[in-house]
Amino acid sequence: MQNNKMSPTLTHFISQDYSGITRARTFPEHRLASNLKKGLCWTPANLALNPFGSIVENEWGSLGDLIMMPDADSEVRVSGEGSISPLHYFHCDFLNMDGSPWDACPRQYLKRQIAVLSEMGIKAIASFEHEFMLTDIEEPAACFSLAASRTEEALCTAITAALIEANVDPEMCIPEYAARQYEVTCSPAEALKAADRAVNVREVVREICRRQNRTVSFSPVSSLNPGTNGVHVHVSLWSESDEPLTYDPSRPGQLSELASRFSAGILAHMTALTALTAPGVVSYQRLRPNSWSAAYACIGQQNREASIRIAPITHLNDSDAAKQANIEYRAADALASPHLVLGAILAAGIDGIKRKLEMPALVTTNPASIPSTDHARYGLRALPVNLESALQELDRDEVITASLGPALLNCYRAIKQSEIKEMDNKEEKVVRDLYAAVY
Ligand code: GLU
Ligand code: MG
Repeated sequence: MQNNKMSPTLTHFISQDYSGITRARTFPEHRLASNLKKGLCWTPANLALNPFGSIVENEWGSLGDLIMMPDADSEVRVSGEGSISPLHYFHCDFLNMDGSPWDACPRQYLKRQIAVLSEMGIKAIASFEHEFMLTDIEEPAACFSLAASRTEEALCTAITAALIEANVDPEMCIPEYAARQYEVTCSPAEALKAADRAVNVREVVREICRRQNRTVSFSPVSSLNPGTNGVHVHVSLWSESDEPLTYDPSRPGQLSELASRFSAGILAHMTALTALTAPGVVSYQRLRPNSWSAAYACIGQQNREASIRIAPITHLNDSDAAKQANIEYRAADALASPHLVLGAILAAGIDGIKRKLEMPALVTTNPASIPSTDHARYGLRALPVNLESALQELDRDEVITASLGPALLNCYRAIKQSEIKEMDNKEEKVVRDLYAAVY
């Protein structure tokens, strides 16, 4: 008979793949010290899985090995309960066997963009807001209501406690607009940590739901009720010595020249970015006008129909406006790898800074209501209406494709094409349900 006291605690090395699915290697914790030094082996073709488990054609096939190398600073530990061992993992980078960075690693893609920004004397601070639906709620309470919060008190408390333990620094766990919908926000952090935290939010919420026999979905659209799940990415720019660089009250949107160029860069590349930030066939059931998501590339102050929303600033209680200023990228969802999302946003913003792009006029109304004769003034462009068009936009975008590099891009494209093929000719509801089952 097994003695419970002798049960090993399991530790995982994790990486979120191109489809935003967290893959893991698991081992007994007593091997951690040694595994932290040498990493674990990983097969490159394992990253060529589409969300539905099909392995797509890729350049590695049965050949090759990689090292899954943990980042010791990224440790997450959430206490276990009863017979459930703690959730204990480390985020990893993929390295070649000689220890050099592997070109197609999603986390190192973000690190590369952070390094480019750093050469310019800038660092990005970010945070990801996640919306999700508790899909097993039978009779949802009213949106935003105290009742919706209190009926899920046990779950929301457990999620919040676990997120605090996981060093995510949660700010809120709140009922949202749609039935069954909740949202978790956390405090901003330096870009790499922010993207790791986004993975942590998803995995900790899933873990706590599993423990409480609850079902949750982060998929952007649900068949259960209208309303969409977005991932909103807040970004601000800072000097390496922690001076805020985003705010200038004398300029449009109170955005500094630097932040305006950065935002203009994101807008210029946004149709291509959606292939990475709204990466599923189902994502395009969300990116539609009048759903407070994002259907057009445009920028607006406190405008929830704008794909870049300049976040509000409060002047109460001597709050430092410059430190609050940030922009919010709204065209993302939880099918996307946070590392690819933030990496691509930074690559686009960096291009805007380098080319000194002018920020277009701010959209102050619903962009869907702006006549086409005014589109140029607002830099307004419709975002792709499906994944196929988004991938074509990505292929046409030399800056974003160059930032990704051929190995990552080719595998990503093959995965997405296979996903499109698997969803081909399926009704919207069927597509929604297939994604909801995975995410
Ligand atoms: N649920 C909306 C989305 O899909 C966002 C609503 C909000 O602004 O929080 O992005
Ligand atoms: Mg929200």
